[in-house]
Amino acid sequence: MAATAATMFLTNSSSSSSRLLKFNTTKHPNTILHFRPSISLQFRISNPKFPKSICSSSSATTAVEVNNETSATVIDGKRVAKDIREEVAVEISRMKDEIGIVPGLAVILVGDRKDSATYVRNKKKACDTVGINSYEVRLAEDCTEEEVLKHISEFNDDPSVHGILVQLPLPSHINEQNILNAVCIEKDVDGFHPLNIGRLAMRGREPLFVPCTPKGCIELLHRYDIPIKGKRAVVIGRSNIVGMPAALLLQREDATVTIVHSRTKNPEEITRQADIIISAVGQPNMVRGSWVKPGAVLIDVGINPIEDPECPRGYRLVGDICYEEASKVASAITPVPGGVGPMTIAMLLSNTLLSAKRIHNFR
Ligand code: NAP
Repeated sequence: MAATAATMFLTNSSSSSSRLLKFNTTKHPNTILHFRPSISLQFRISNPKFPKSICSSSSATTAVEVNNETSATVIDGKRVAKDIREEVAVEISRMKDEIGIVPGLAVILVGDRKDSATYVRNKKKACDTVGINSYEVRLAEDCTEEEVLKHISEFNDDPSVHGILVQLPLPSHINEQNILNAVCIEKDVDGFHPLNIGRLAMRGREPLFVPCTPKGCIELLHRYDIPIKGKRAVVIGRSNIVGMPAALLLQREDATVTIVHSRTKNPEEITRQADIIISAVGQPNMVRGSWVKPGAVLIDVGINPIEDPECPRGYRLVGDICYEEASKVASAITPVPGGVGPMTIAMLLSNTLLSAKRIHNFR
């Protein structure tokens, strides 16, 4: 399971009208780079059964007629995230003017992974743009668990810090659970503390924070006025950081929720009944057009790099959902990149503001 926090993909792009991604079937990569965003962003090189994961393979049964025209509304996460950042900036400036408090976010980075360093840098940049103070601690790869815990404890006690993130993955000699449990629940802006998750799951209880990526998914549905109540929702994936909290959130919004995971038999039969699909799997183009009920709303959390020699970096990002096919069947769809990705960091900023407001009783 990947543990994670908010990550910003600076290269995200999206458009307000539907676009078709190019799928060049003659250029099948023989390697997929599994791209894990957020705290744990890392590339896992594997030797996949690639043709099965490509949109244009002919393996899927076609139960839904696919039009030639793209019809879905493109849910523009990049634009929504920008709106949220602007709203957060306005609130931060009001807070500063009225009570002289500036929200602060502390990030602890252990080791010298380049990807983790990039994500920390991106978070810092995002904080700067909205006026959140950011604090960073960098520890050597071979530091002890006690050292990490000491810094968490200091940030827990520091009144200028309202949110604490520990960039994951941590080196293997450090127990991730011990570390995440040590973050005080009032500053757990990632929402990963078991108490926050437990409250999310219980009726009548409110979590102090909701994990950023699933929160971003629901926010997109809200901002596009997509009704959730009474709808059939399917979440593909059940990770602690995305799938499971996304399912809990949908349930709190009165959707009827089914979770599909790696042991689910005939997943396409289940997804075909869904009014809303949230996919958080990490398998490029797994959800084919034939898996989608006409008019369904599709939220694609997956971020999967696939080799593409035509791209300057040698790869491009695709989602779990085969955009090319599914956008012809769905009523609305998030692109990858430019959908859920930018929302994650926007939600982190929003959670940090929320924390500062709550701690200082500012409305
Ligand atoms: P994860 O911890 O690896 O969980 C993947 C989930 O997918 C697991 O529950 C797994 O089932 C399920 N799964 C795997 N193969 C499946 C299959 N063939 N059919 C159905 N379910 C399958 O991954 P994660 O951290 O949740 O991330 C999922 C994806 O979201 C990744 O692409 C990741 O990069 C992306 N992500 C994006 C953001 C963002 O900001 N946009 C943030 C976080 C993650 P089991 O439980 O049975 O193993």
